[in-house]
Amino acid sequence: MRKLDLHWQILIGMLLGIIFGFFAAEMNWNQLVIDWIKPFGTIFINMLKMIAVPLIIVSLITGIAELKDISKISKMGGKTIGFYLMTTVIAVSIGLLLANLIEPGSFIDTEARDQLMEQYAGDAGNKILEAQEQKKQGPLQPIVDIVPDNFFSAMTDNGKMLQVIFFAILIGIGLILIPEEKARPVTSFFSSLNEVILKIIDLIMLAAPIGVFALLAAILVEIPSFSVLQALLVYALTVVAGLAILIFVIYSSIISFVTKLSYVQFIKGIAPAQLVAFSTSSSAATLPVTLERVTEHLGVDEDVASFVLPLGATINMDGTSLYQAVAAIFIAQAFGMDLDLSTQIMIVLTATLASIGSAAVPSAGMVMLVIVLGQAGIPEAGLALIFAIDRPLDMCRTVVNVTSDAMVSTLIAKSEDKLHVPVVKNWDDYYPPKKD
Ligand code: ASP
Repeated sequence: MRKLDLHWQILIGMLLGIIFGFFAAEMNWNQLVIDWIKPFGTIFINMLKMIAVPLIIVSLITGIAELKDISKISKMGGKTIGFYLMTTVIAVSIGLLLANLIEPGSFIDTEARDQLMEQYAGDAGNKILEAQEQKKQGPLQPIVDIVPDNFFSAMTDNGKMLQVIFFAILIGIGLILIPEEKARPVTSFFSSLNEVILKIIDLIMLAAPIGVFALLAAILVEIPSFSVLQALLVYALTVVAGLAILIFVIYSSIISFVTKLSYVQFIKGIAPAQLVAFSTSSSAATLPVTLERVTEHLGVDEDVASFVLPLGATINMDGTSLYQAVAAIFIAQAFGMDLDLSTQIMIVLTATLASIGSAAVPSAGMVMLVIVLGQAGIPEAGLALIFAIDRPLDMCRTVVNVTSDAMVSTLIAKSEDKLHVPVVKNWDDYYPPKKD
């Protein structure tokens, strides 16, 4: 019997997790799920995080060294950042447009608003404090933060991925600049280690259906009551509609116009990464899966993917920026504020920068939202309004963040003539494509 494709296995795990979590919440088994089921989800996320930093180092060094030409790196770097910025600005603009059209803030009455403000004031206060810590630093601090003062300490902190990327790029460049025979022992070491790491990711993914089951069951028992969520329904639907437009209209048009991939082919290739993104709410934890899917199932050359994806996971967050735009307008509307055009343009700018600055971990986008609110003169305490529904929206926006990274990697690969799209006569011949 043919084994079920990975994305189906994960999807079934997710559905069972949702059903079980729902049932467990009804039966009041919350503590049982948290004690006995959630840890398996945590183990799964930990395994992905564990492999993320070694993967970035090894695949980036191998990828850059294989480019064999410094000018190619700067050209590719420029293109990558350009594409990332472009997709982010499109995302924020869609968010603003929808929020102005739908006016989700007008659907929440003052009573529900005050109740949410009271109930989540403490949680929101913590996020505001976190954001204030970040704001205290000077304007150039984000650039200073890219350069580690100690590579080994950067490697031990999953939050310092840009520093790791910076150092790995330097090693790759160093390898290009020294004579080839001297570089060879190092490059062959890293390229064989790269194979090992990709194999480990395959092994980790065997546990994905169980991991996502546990993660979703735990999320369901920890979710606030339905009545709270009801007040935020229109806001949530506005965010989800924006994310859906991005995935189904914008990305699909870009993919089919620019690359030879059909969009169905693209989605089928990337689906396991999207499902893991949904379950973990972390682009960084999903990175190993995204890299494996993009290279082995979409035909993106490894030297492109290993450069474009780690950078994307940390700086490219279309879903987050769209959410920040909608959330800012929603909070303003709920407080009866009218935002003029110049403030809205300011939101495009700050949400773009805030999404770049958001860490690729759960609810990071919400911390950076505080900065967007502050710049636009919207009360930061309004964060309490959207707190209850943030986790489900985080899951959805992380899917978009990861999809956008994957899309840009295919675009860059196409422009560099490094997209090896398999000729699909019969889907089964292609999925999963045989690389070896
Ligand atoms: N969870 C998101 C990510 O990892 C970031 C966010 O929007 O909170 O991509």
